[in-house]
Amino acid sequence: MSQTPPIKPKTIKDIEPKRMKMPEQPPDVRNKNFKEVALGFNEALALKESDRCIQCKKPACISGCPVGIDIPGFIKAVAEKNYQMAYDIILASDLLPAVTGRVCPQESQCEAVCIVGKRLEPVAIGRLERFVADYAMEHDLYKIPEIKPRGIKVAMIGSGPGGLTCAADCARAGLTVTIFEALHVAGGVLKYGIPEFRLPNALVDKEIENLRKMGVEILVDKIVGKIFTIPMLLNEMGYKAVFIGTGAGFPKFMGINGEGLNGVMSANEFLTRVNLMTGNMFPRMDTPVGMGKRVATIGAGNTAMDSSRTALRMGAEKSYIVYRRTEHESPARKEELHHAIEEGVEFLWLNNPVEILGEKGWVKGMKCIKMELGEPDESGRRSPVPVPGSEFELDVDTVIYALGTKANPVIASTTPGLKTNKWGYIEVDPETQMTSIPGVFAGGDIVTGSATVILAMGAGRKAARGILKHLDLA
Ligand code: FAD
Ligand code: SF4
Repeated sequence: MSQTPPIKPKTIKDIEPKRMKMPEQPPDVRNKNFKEVALGFNEALALKESDRCIQCKKPACISGCPVGIDIPGFIKAVAEKNYQMAYDIILASDLLPAVTGRVCPQESQCEAVCIVGKRLEPVAIGRLERFVADYAMEHDLYKIPEIKPRGIKVAMIGSGPGGLTCAADCARAGLTVTIFEALHVAGGVLKYGIPEFRLPNALVDKEIENLRKMGVEILVDKIVGKIFTIPMLLNEMGYKAVFIGTGAGFPKFMGINGEGLNGVMSANEFLTRVNLMTGNMFPRMDTPVGMGKRVATIGAGNTAMDSSRTALRMGAEKSYIVYRRTEHESPARKEELHHAIEEGVEFLWLNNPVEILGEKGWVKGMKCIKMELGEPDESGRRSPVPVPGSEFELDVDTVIYALGTKANPVIASTTPGLKTNKWGYIEVDPETQMTSIPGVFAGGDIVTGSATVILAMGAGRKAARGILKHLDLA
């Protein structure tokens, strides 16, 4: 009797060298609308891409993912068209796959260490994750997990990705979870910061809805530190543990003349007005954005890309990025920078604002100086140095600051004994995320400073394990 030969494991010689391209709206169409830029894989593209994963015996991708998704496992399920299994595998580690599949910097995380990527283009893990999440939403694949209630109350402060993830893991373990959110909607930066054309708010709402289905209560319009404090939560309000996930939403300015003029705003304010307050529909909706026609965004990170691209969609005739270093030092994701260039944002590299000029209380220009790169500073990057006598006036009527953010002091100033570092970020034990106060945990941007969605989620998961251990439930 003839024996079936064993199936040989797939190697990189057997696969397409290039990843499947993401379908996108053309630049000159998308820069005039708020619909998503990247349109997502269809099933055929997803199946082809899943076939590029060689199912490594010792996969590197899982440890490259801050929440440890079983990446080869979910990709295998996609290849077998078992989308329910693919979704369940992702969801076991990642509460927000439609979000992370869209905004995670995969190129520096899981995809950076994908073994295929050593010789060919890495497997498009993020695009596959987004495909599975979108498929699951369309086909209603979410299943409420079975939960055994333990009758122990815990509180989350802030409903960004850190707070939401910590809440999910605590709820799965049977704790009774309440999230207190300062704004009138849940989601943190996912809702008020990242624009619709990269992450539609309706998707974020749907993923948050899954949390509500697990029994998590979300109370909005509750600024902890103003209405009640952490000591009150732990004492008279009966919560056995608290997670602080308040982000780092306090904007930075430069301290130059003219910052008090009308037409100067922080990127957070600008994006919130457009994303959350429907300012793009003014005057049909109530919130004016206060943007003119010639907009300068200062900074060159992801927030600057979002602001300058939003300005184009809001009808700006000119949208400049002004940055004191070069494109090479820009902290933005390559893909975001590339999209901004394609859409018509103009980059003024090696330029620094020195004064915002005004007339009758409104911005009428911005004085800049040219810069050149000098010696490397302590970060290893070459420091920009002004070129004497090179000042010039940029004809703009709106200036948006996207220079990063810092910690909001509300929580620290109302929580005696909470240790913070010199920048106001909360200090935690890196193993458990517990702060200097027993039973109080923290994670996300309020600990690290502005970072990423997935790092905040990773911290939320770790804090949930810390909370369970603290309550002797782990
Ligand atoms: P946040 O998302 O900041 O949420 C904190 C929440 O706490 C907010 O809802 C806030 O209202 C609430 N809060 C604050 N104080 C209180 C209080 N006292 N009481 C109650 N609630 C309070 N990361 C990526 O990975 N990819 C991207 O593409 C990306 N793009 C970005 C674009 C922009 C414009 C910005 C600003 C950030 C971007 N980031 C991106 C960074 C990412 O969004 C953050 O790192 C992440 O959201 C941090 O999560 P968090 O849970 O710590 O806090
Ligand atoms: Fe697949 Fe790349 Fe992970 Fe290997 S490292 S299992 S090829 S995604």
